[in-house]
Amino acid sequence: MYHYKRRLKLKTRIKNGYHQYNAGKGWIWTHRRVAEKKMGSKILPGYEVHHINGIKTDNRPSNLIVLSKAKHRAIHSKGVKK
Ligand SMILES: [Zn+2]
Repeated sequence: MYHYKRRLKLKTRIKNGYHQYNAGKGWIWTHRRVAEKKMGSKILPGYEVHHINGIKTDNRPSNLIVLSKAKHRAIHSKGVKK
């Protein structure tokens, strides 16, 4: 488990429906950070993070999957029709 000796001061906001946070070095997509932590490695260029249940603000690791841009686009073009 993680132990925080002091509270981390993170600014957060929502952009385009997604959460972002700012630790002082600019705005970072929260879901990308969570996915990188889950995988234990950086997201490669050309890859994107998909929210499995379609809820953009649900950044639980179990809801995030890293896909190539092409695969990601294919999922959305199929799934959007309702
Ligand atoms: Zn997606």
